[in-house]
Amino acid sequence: MNMEENVENLNGVGEKTAELLAHAGIKTIRDLFYYLPRSYENYQNVSKISELRPGKVVVKGQIDGLNTHYGKNRHLAITEGIISDGTSSLRVVWFNQAYRKNQFQKGKTYLFSGNFELKYGRYQLTSPAATLYEEDKDGLKNAIRPEKESPGYQPIYSMHLGIKPDQFKRLIGRSKNQFAKIPDLLPMIKSKPFFVKNGARAEALMAVHFPKNEKEVEHGRRYLAYEELFELIFAARLNREENRRLKSISLPFVAANTKELVGALPFTLTPGQKRATWDILQDLEKTTPMNRLLQGDVGSGKTVVAAICAYQAIKAGAQVALLAPTSILAAQHAETLNQFLKPLGVNVALLVGSTKHKSELKKRIKTGEVNLVVGTHAIITDDTEFHNLLFCIIDEQHRFGVAQRQRLLLKSPDGKAPHLLAMTATPIPRSLQLTIFGDLSISTIPELPKGRTPIETKIIREMEQREFLYPKVKAEIKKGRQVYWICKSIEDNPREETISVKKQAERLAKIFPRQKIDFLHGRMKPAEKDEKMQKFQAGETDILVSTTVVEVGVNVPNATVMVIMDAEGFGLAQLHQLRGRVGRGQHQSFCFLVKSGEEPPSRRLRELEKSTSGFHLAEVDLKIRGPGEIYGSLQSGALDLRIASLTDTELISLASKHVQGFIEDKNEKLEHYPELMHSIQKYQQLTTLN
Ligand code: ADP
Ligand code: MG
Repeated sequence: MNMEENVENLNGVGEKTAELLAHAGIKTIRDLFYYLPRSYENYQNVSKISELRPGKVVVKGQIDGLNTHYGKNRHLAITEGIISDGTSSLRVVWFNQAYRKNQFQKGKTYLFSGNFELKYGRYQLTSPAATLYEEDKDGLKNAIRPEKESPGYQPIYSMHLGIKPDQFKRLIGRSKNQFAKIPDLLPMIKSKPFFVKNGARAEALMAVHFPKNEKEVEHGRRYLAYEELFELIFAARLNREENRRLKSISLPFVAANTKELVGALPFTLTPGQKRATWDILQDLEKTTPMNRLLQGDVGSGKTVVAAICAYQAIKAGAQVALLAPTSILAAQHAETLNQFLKPLGVNVALLVGSTKHKSELKKRIKTGEVNLVVGTHAIITDDTEFHNLLFCIIDEQHRFGVAQRQRLLLKSPDGKAPHLLAMTATPIPRSLQLTIFGDLSISTIPELPKGRTPIETKIIREMEQREFLYPKVKAEIKKGRQVYWICKSIEDNPREETISVKKQAERLAKIFPRQKIDFLHGRMKPAEKDEKMQKFQAGETDILVSTTVVEVGVNVPNATVMVIMDAEGFGLAQLHQLRGRVGRGQHQSFCFLVKSGEEPPSRRLRELEKSTSGFHLAEVDLKIRGPGEIYGSLQSGALDLRIASLTDTELISLASKHVQGFIEDKNEKLEHYPELMHSIQKYQQLTTLN
């Protein structure tokens, strides 16, 4: 069986199904078999209804009188029924799962697994998973179709565009006899670990889709995690080698130049900034291109590091480009860089969508008159040509896709690869650095400049706003400080309970009638956004109500309060970034995380309340969410690891040894393993900076 073939070539998959699958992103046979269950439902340990105790339970019974009605606001479909098993009967409820109505047939027996709990004075089984139960002919118990061998332990697949979990399960069930034909993937060489053996891959995939028990799933997943690591580590190795073969131009270090610039700064560099600068300056001297990530918390001062390094490059005759994700941020960078570099004779230009006289500016870039171009996507359009682009800096690199980064790098002189510096405030946890980013050099600024007081963070309940939040905000404004007020949505949306920018701005206008309140969101024209931002920066606005457009990089040292409405709706990294908009001056700053609902705050919010270290929070985030999601978001969602395995150091070291053994083995070549080569190349693209 060729795993790269279209799913349609698989027995049991028709044209229609193939189309459905394609919508869910499943195109090849490999995609199908590697679409792994999200979790498993354990239907073992059936209890009698008459003996149930609150908590997670499994019962077996028939279902009568199922019907669906809608809640008050029409958005909630409630499906209710009664299960009975001869000992007693029990109410069962599902929310927004109207399809349940058609799932059950009269007279048949099903297994239900869910939470048995007291709600509004009655006991009920809430949103249970359910599956058909059938006695075997010979009276053996718990034989369930279609997976007769797996009594009581059933995979659950996530909902995906166009295809329902149960539909997917039936489909996989139909292809079951094909699993034996799955070829091995990994090289069977001496350095492989013992569990990589003939048939191991087919066995592992079989185990995760048709498990007999928990243990089997665990073994299967471990093997698949190993495969993934092998591919990632291999990709990192190849990236490193390919990068070594590229040629760049040496941009030599001249001590006097650096001294001149550093000496003119209004502050002294932190030790972290010095180390990072030195790493980069040395890389720029080499004739293999730099491929370096500069990570440092919000406010750690990455921009000035970039400025010093850009200066070295420009003094050596190079042009430099700095790419930023938003025009507000690009404008701010241009201003900062101008301030540092203009006195030294450097010509800095800003190139964003709204830049006037663009063609004239582009001419000046093409002739080399402009030394340093700061801008947004406008830089990477085809008609922006450079004279001698040898150093590219990308701020918040995870905001850009692979293709965009590559387009920028292609603007260098023929045959020369530019040096690349990517800056990020979303640090990559150490455990991921080793595997995925094995080809990257990383510099870290671990500290903030001296004299900053840590931001005070507090979780506030919605109803506590009047009592705690408004007085605090008022007091800060009275002292002359400014406030950011972040909302999730722009306009009110009946389906969401979050408060919108517009509503919040109206509300605040009533609460603070004397203060100047303005609002900002991503749907405004860039010119309008810039104007509002400039007013805020100039201190003309007291409270700026906004969506997350102010998330990245914006620097208004006089702003000391950050209020985030519906804070539970944001990710940890994003909350940390937002918080970093304040605490940029010498004043004590505050961050208030406003949460609706009665439940206790999530771990995410509590961690944020406790810690202001981006590095600590990144590790926490890794633990809470798993590396797949984090890495996915780092790369704009392009790569989604199936199995959380990047923290498994034992497996990583086994896979590294195996990869090393393969590379050293004279008789082995990657071309002999087309499927493996294909996925390694995919990872290579996604995990390199250039
Ligand atoms: P980020 O790393 O978040 O991009 P910035 O480069 O925007 O941080 O720097 C934040 C602020 O700190 C800027 O106003 C910058 O001038 C200032 N800054 C940078 N380095 C130092 C330093 N060593 N001492 C004091 N202030 C500094
Ligand atoms: Mg920055």
